[in-house]
Amino acid sequence: MEAKYLCPSCRNSLNVGDDIVFVGETKTGMKGIIFLSAELGDYTTHFSEDFNPVKGNVVKYICPICHFKLSNQKAKNKAQVIRINEEGKEALIVFSEIYGEYCTYEIIEDELIRSFGEPSDDLELE
Ligand SMILES: [Zn+2]
Repeated sequence: MEAKYLCPSCRNSLNVGDDIVFVGETKTGMKGIIFLSAELGDYTTHFSEDFNPVKGNVVKYICPICHFKLSNQKAKNKAQVIRINEEGKEALIVFSEIYGEYCTYEIIEDELIRSFGEPSDDLELE
């Protein structure tokens, strides 16, 4: 079984093929569809036509099913999704909302398990 990503609010699957799909919105109100690789640490991203944020833009990630904003309430400019791994274990994946900033954290029961990319020091979940 491949890892499955769920919206923390409606718990529907966000997987489409090898990607996770989101609705994205920038601060200037530009909206589009985001396809992000489902592989942790792979930052390959595809956007729908005419949605073209530049590096450094804050992109808010939104569940395409229930429209819940996936922003983490404790960490600045971070989004979060639930990941069910191959063994069925549930983790919280926290990742940067800043386009071009590559940092991802895997958290299980409030404990940081792994990080990917270039983690910043400012992750404070409590
Ligand atoms: Zn949802």
